[in-house]
Amino acid sequence: MAFDQVRVRLAPSPTGDPHVGTGYIALFNFVFARKNKGKLILRIEDTDQVRSRASSEQMIMESLRWLGLDWDEGPDVGGAFGPYRQSERRHLHQEHANKLVTSGHAYRCFCTSERLDEMRAKQKADGSQLGYDRHCRNLSDAAISANLSASKPFVVRMKMPTDGVTIVKDLLRGNVEFENQRIDDQVLLKSDGYPTYHLANVVDDHLMKISHVIRAEEWVSSTPKHVLLYEAFGWEQPTFVHMPLLRNTDKSKISKRKNPVSLRYYQRAGILPEAMVNFLALMGWSFGNDIEIFTVSEMIEKFELERINLGGPIFDQTKLNWMNNQYMQKISTGRFVEYLRDQIFNIDQLLKIKPFAVERMDRFDQFLDNNIFFFNGALKYDGIPLVPAGKTNDEMITMLGRLAETLDEVYDWSMDPIKQAMDAVKTELNWKPKDYFMPIRLVVTGRKDSPPLVESIEIIGREMTRFRLRDAADYLKAHPQKTPS
Ligand code: GLU
Repeated sequence: MAFDQVRVRLAPSPTGDPHVGTGYIALFNFVFARKNKGKLILRIEDTDQVRSRASSEQMIMESLRWLGLDWDEGPDVGGAFGPYRQSERRHLHQEHANKLVTSGHAYRCFCTSERLDEMRAKQKADGSQLGYDRHCRNLSDAAISANLSASKPFVVRMKMPTDGVTIVKDLLRGNVEFENQRIDDQVLLKSDGYPTYHLANVVDDHLMKISHVIRAEEWVSSTPKHVLLYEAFGWEQPTFVHMPLLRNTDKSKISKRKNPVSLRYYQRAGILPEAMVNFLALMGWSFGNDIEIFTVSEMIEKFELERINLGGPIFDQTKLNWMNNQYMQKISTGRFVEYLRDQIFNIDQLLKIKPFAVERMDRFDQFLDNNIFFFNGALKYDGIPLVPAGKTNDEMITMLGRLAETLDEVYDWSMDPIKQAMDAVKTELNWKPKDYFMPIRLVVTGRKDSPPLVESIEIIGREMTRFRLRDAADYLKAHPQKTPS
């Protein structure tokens, strides 16, 4: 191996919740790095200015720490190959895009978005191959100079070969061939000077001396573009390893409509981190001898990349619960008490609940009964009429789905943004307040007489609120309720 050390990276885009898939890929990178006395680098891929969020970066780091998967270099711990946030490396990406323009591997494209829209519409109408028609690929020097003098905005596109094949060597999949003529002249640098994923990813992997790229299967189709970039720069490629995608029980790609996907949800739901890590390990790897329960250290000891198994791993909640129970049976009393104290009855939560709790009880023995929904996970909806008069079961399901989706985007989990999101859905679906708020209250608290709704939602928290909305929608799909007359 020409790389003198194993250096792997986890490169999440901070655009949402910390995904179980990120935990899964992090685990395999972590184990491989530790096995080979190498380094794990955390690089934040925040070049999508519109969707990237500092709060998401923070949550990703917290969830990885919760899982015990720590990194050797990263935005918070530093390192010799920083900065570790791509947005702070723009000068490097621009410099490398310019190098490719100079060496003839890339070109400036001055096409306006109107022209590109027309081109696309025409391609669709003709049924021809979609993609950039390479209009600017062979502009004369004079035309380029004129455009530059006129300060016309441009992107930098990669000059892809028009025939032959590009071979991606994947450690697990062997050689995967891609026909070059189907690869678009990819944008490398946008007109605002920000790089696209392909350029930033390759330039940073190279500059950070990444020896192995271990990432999810969904990136396989991007890899020929990366291989061509390595070739254009004259750089050595890392070893590519594409892990099988996590799937829902119906084998579709894991999605939040069918499974909670946020690591924070599982933390809130009382899954022990060691159980989660063990479960994620089984998604792509087997310990051998039918052993299912093992620690990360045991995994590191026995780990070989070659033994990763490519069958579509199913993210099965029942199995996860079983696994968690195995760990719970073994935890010490000290940890058991600590867990309940820190995770379930934690002081911040109790402080928020207190003003509402004292209004609604005269004795402490009523506390749990009155406030159980602040601590519980899934609620039971049997016998609770969730669908309001004048609305159908389907309308209620749609509303719950839209509200969950809208709340997915509320990162600042405080009363005003929560209220705005709720009002937005009410307006969008044109529901009357009297039909709208009570069913939501029943879904998120399980009772009619909870403390004020928005306050309750704030305390129940982002993960559990969204979970209950989706869970209630599933409940109504399975147990349709007649509209009360
Ligand atoms: N930023 C990409 C992601 O969010 C990184 C993919 C890769 O590892 O190359 O998953």
